[in-house]
Amino acid sequence: MSASKKCPNCGKWSRWNQNPTDRCEHCHSVLDPVAVARQEAREQRRQEEDERFSIKMIEIDPNDPWYMRFFKRIGLGLQIAFVSIISFILWLIALLAG
Ligand SMILES: [Zn+2]
Repeated sequence: MSASKKCPNCGKWSRWNQNPTDRCEHCHSVLDPVAVARQEAREQRRQEEDERFSIKMIEIDPNDPWYMRFFKRIGLGLQIAFVSIISFILWLIALLAG
């Protein structure tokens, strides 16, 4: 289905496939900025959820300079300690609840 939409930037009518990424034939600006913003917000929210539910472990690259490896190792140690404490607490809760 093909439709047309008035460009919010230049005011000319342009062909529009109702995709948020469709651009004006005349000035190449986005035809539906609201849909684009909505899509971006949705994508950002999904990204934030991904970050919340997964703990990314620091990767130590053998090609890093020694001080980078040093700080990364400290960071990784803290991460492992943190994850261990959380899983210990969860295990304790499960134990007490059971
Ligand atoms: Zn335009």
